[in-house]
Amino acid sequence: MNNIHRSSSVSSSVPLTRNQHYQRQERGKNPFVSLVHRRRQIQRESVDENMSATTTSSGGTRVKPLVIVGPSGVGKGTLIEKLNKNHPNSFGFSVSHTTRDPRPGEENGVHYHFVEKSLMEQEIADGKFLEHANVHLNIYGTSFKAVDDVASKGVCCILDIDIQGAEIVKNSGKLDCAYVFIQPPSIPELERRLRGRGTETEEAVTKRMQNATKEIERGEKLGSAFFDAIIVNDDLDSAYEKLKDVVVRRIFTPA
Ligand code: ADP
Ligand code: 5GP
Repeated sequence: MNNIHRSSSVSSSVPLTRNQHYQRQERGKNPFVSLVHRRRQIQRESVDENMSATTTSSGGTRVKPLVIVGPSGVGKGTLIEKLNKNHPNSFGFSVSHTTRDPRPGEENGVHYHFVEKSLMEQEIADGKFLEHANVHLNIYGTSFKAVDDVASKGVCCILDIDIQGAEIVKNSGKLDCAYVFIQPPSIPELERRLRGRGTETEEAVTKRMQNATKEIERGEKLGSAFFDAIIVNDDLDSAYEKLKDVVVRRIFTPA
């Protein structure tokens, strides 16, 4: 952590994504992924059909942020990655702060701002965070700056946060967002995905699976009164189509 926390004052967001390190691993194996990566590096001019910023009454182009919630391993990052890959001009990622250690391949300022607990607590006390929560024994939080850096570009800011954070954002009334809950097809399948990803220790898998049950129960209780959509990520392509549909309807369709 030592080399990392020094750069940790609340700092800017960058385009997607937290899942880049998984992609990087895949890139070596898959020529299509490699092509996608090269394509991403080129500045694109085109505006994505159905996913361009709608002009507000004041003439601005602020786009409603998207909050994606769901237990660890359910496929949130995979779905976000797909959304960004297919619509590279329409989204940006809110880079959260966390006190957890980086996984191999994760970059400070890209996947997260990796910070020491004392510094994060100080910045929370200074009012720099829209929300924060204790998740899996660490603190995670979304700074106002992380959202603003993306939203000010006129793209949809995606927040991949836990359910406590989503409730805080909604109850604060500070940010008008669309909310989507991603559910696993079953608990055993969730565990299989979490283990299959190969990023967690045995202890972390156990902790995440314990929290998953609570998170799913809370998500079900909040239900459609809270969420714009509850999507079961069984088949990835059909879950993606449902996510895309709600994004077009709730975010990119003028009121
Ligand atoms: P999260 O961001 O919610 O923690 P990830 O996107 O990292 O979850 O996905 C966890 C693992 O599950 C990854 O290995 C991913 O490739 C896999 N995965 C995601 N969606 C599906 C799906 N619909 N079917 C099978 N595996 C999936
Ligand atoms: P991971 O450690 O796997 O990257 O993330 C663990 C959990 O923390 C996920 O459920 C993720 O959505 C959540 N999380 C990530 N960033 C934030 C954040 O800024 N705020 C809150 N409340 N949760 C977050």
